[in-house]
Amino acid sequence: MTATQRNVSEKQARQVAEAARESEWRKPSFGKELFLGRFRLDLIDPWPAEQPRPDADEFLRKLDAFARSEIDGQRIEHDARIPDEVFQGLARLGAFGMKIDKEYGGLGLTNLHYCRALTLVGSANASIGALLSAHQSIGVPQPLKLFGSPEQKKKFLPRLAAGEVSAFLLTEPDVGSDPARLGTVAEPVEGGFRLNGVKLWATNGTVATLLVVMARVPGKGITAFVVEGDADGITVERRNEFLGLRGLENSVTRFHDVFVPEANVIGGLGKGLKIALTTLNTGRLSLPAMCVSAGKRSLAIAREWSADRVQWGRAVGMHEAVAKKIAFIAATTYAMESTLDLCCMIADDDRNDIRIEAALIKLFASEMAWQVADELIQIRGGRGYEKNESLIARGERPAEAEQLLRDLRINRIFEGSTEIMHLLIAREAVDAHLSVAGDIIDPEAGLNRKARAAARAGGFYAKWLPTLAVGKGQAPTAYGEFGPLAAHLRYVERASRKLGRSTFYAMSRWQGKLERKQGFLGRIVDIGAELFAMSAVCVRAHAERAHRPEGRELADLFCHQARLRADALFDALWDNTDSLDVRAAQRVLDGRYTFLEDGVVDQPSDLAWVAAWEPGAATVEDVRRRIPQAEA
Ligand SMILES: Cc1cc2nc3c(=O)[nH]c(=O)nc-3n(C[C@H](O)[C@H](O)[C@H](O)COP(=O)(O)OP(=O)(O)OC[C@H]3O[C@@H](n4cnc5c(N)ncnc54)[C@H](O)[C@@H]3O)c2cc1C
Repeated sequence: MTATQRNVSEKQARQVAEAARESEWRKPSFGKELFLGRFRLDLIDPWPAEQPRPDADEFLRKLDAFARSEIDGQRIEHDARIPDEVFQGLARLGAFGMKIDKEYGGLGLTNLHYCRALTLVGSANASIGALLSAHQSIGVPQPLKLFGSPEQKKKFLPRLAAGEVSAFLLTEPDVGSDPARLGTVAEPVEGGFRLNGVKLWATNGTVATLLVVMARVPGKGITAFVVEGDADGITVERRNEFLGLRGLENSVTRFHDVFVPEANVIGGLGKGLKIALTTLNTGRLSLPAMCVSAGKRSLAIAREWSADRVQWGRAVGMHEAVAKKIAFIAATTYAMESTLDLCCMIADDDRNDIRIEAALIKLFASEMAWQVADELIQIRGGRGYEKNESLIARGERPAEAEQLLRDLRINRIFEGSTEIMHLLIAREAVDAHLSVAGDIIDPEAGLNRKARAAARAGGFYAKWLPTLAVGKGQAPTAYGEFGPLAAHLRYVERASRKLGRSTFYAMSRWQGKLERKQGFLGRIVDIGAELFAMSAVCVRAHAERAHRPEGRELADLFCHQARLRADALFDALWDNTDSLDVRAAQRVLDGRYTFLEDGVVDQPSDLAWVAAWEPGAATVEDVRRRIPQAEA
């Protein structure tokens, strides 16, 4: 069977996603409460204390020195290759074991220190950030940490901590956002499984010696395996090239009758997607770390350039149109960093559930950092569009504006595209409603189930709805201890209740059809992201007011900007072109407007949009790259 022959209905795809969801809430969640109209500031205030880790601080110092002296970001960009010595130097520092516990030879860093390391190294070259993040946020270390057996940890983690690279292989030509179509098969055989399939776009896939592979075990479901990269039957067929991240070692990898021992199943048969999703709970924090990196670089470039460049008698930064962009970059960078740090620290102290918060910061940071980089290009004018090498050749100072934009773009697509993050977060935002009232709107629920749900829902809504009418945010002196930021927290409290009310109206209006109202749900989630970021900046700025009073200015600025965006999103919940757009898209797909495509030169091609693959042995040469291990 080829992957493209797999026929999966919309309903089956949803069922697979639903089955992979963690359905229990064992710990409090700021995000879940926020969407229910309950602003639980107490869950994030006071700002969590950083765990003192002198060893981690020392590691960051060494990494900083290494990044400055040994990583030539421009060379990596030019050669589209991270040199072997950089792999080896990072290995010597322990960077491949940042998230691996000390007992297995790793550094056992907290999420906070890990993300700081990614922010730092990613500023030298984003491909290195992606290498380290794919290796330990989604590659072998994290799933083994959460779900691995003691034997698996003992066997694999020391190798990874010492510098062997790992990769995560889920995507296939026909499987992107929809894992229900997974075509790679792991057939049970004596002592293990035989793997057949083709995996697409595996970051680190060309260099990795240990892989997490998602494959379907017949009758059991999608399962995660640790696979030796050098096992017989594995061919790295291609190294892919992208818009940005030119140093990325990203593969097409073929599995032909690859034997995987039974002992290499992670977490049990059929648990693969749950493992992938749970891994991403904290794994999702690494992409925002790269976005923070880009924000910081953008701010520095914008500051220096806008003061230096004079046009029409003023530094360009003093023209209002440019000033607004600089203010946006500064405020957004402060917000991305504050929200990420908060997520990391609440993940580290393990008191709260952070699955919604981590998803919100991934969504927020990837979208906002893209806008930041776009504004930076505009501020730099023509030079923003010019490559570094070209700038240097003309005798001008390089500023990696266009590279930042290219490197950042993928963050809105991988580890859950923005559209999928909207759906995933919206699912959690409406979870309380679905668990009490889900059967009322489920067409497959019988009358008995519907009646029971109606009684349950009656009780829940009778208690919950009145709580949305009034709250602390209406009291003019509420949150007074936050001084100049109190008004913003009052806004968040009011907006949170409005968010809860809006979701309830939408549930009553559209019922089961709400899940298809992606425009509405996306806005609900985006408002939640703005409110979360506002809360984070206020709490941080307040906590740091003694030693960094200027943080309050940035928090205030961000909150003013975020409120405008949130208000616009609230308005658009009920006043939009969503239905019109869906109808128009249908007409576009039907070919009604093809006249509009006339008058340009098209690029005819006989190739399919998605290439079919056939199982079997590779017919092309293996292009894997072997990185010599670092000497201790
Ligand atoms: C540089 C790079 C590195 C990557 N690294 C890895 C890796 O290490 N391991 C790995 O397994 N994969 C990796 N991927 C794959 C990546 O995770 C996928 O590209 C991503 O999941 C999106 O899938 P897709 O590209 O097939 O898009 P598609 O699923 O084809 O989606 C196309 C568009 O439709 C939207 N869409 C899809 N379904 C829905 C829906 N239900 N509702 C609304 N909108 C929808 C998407 O958001 C997108 O805009 C990488 C990709 C790239 C480009």
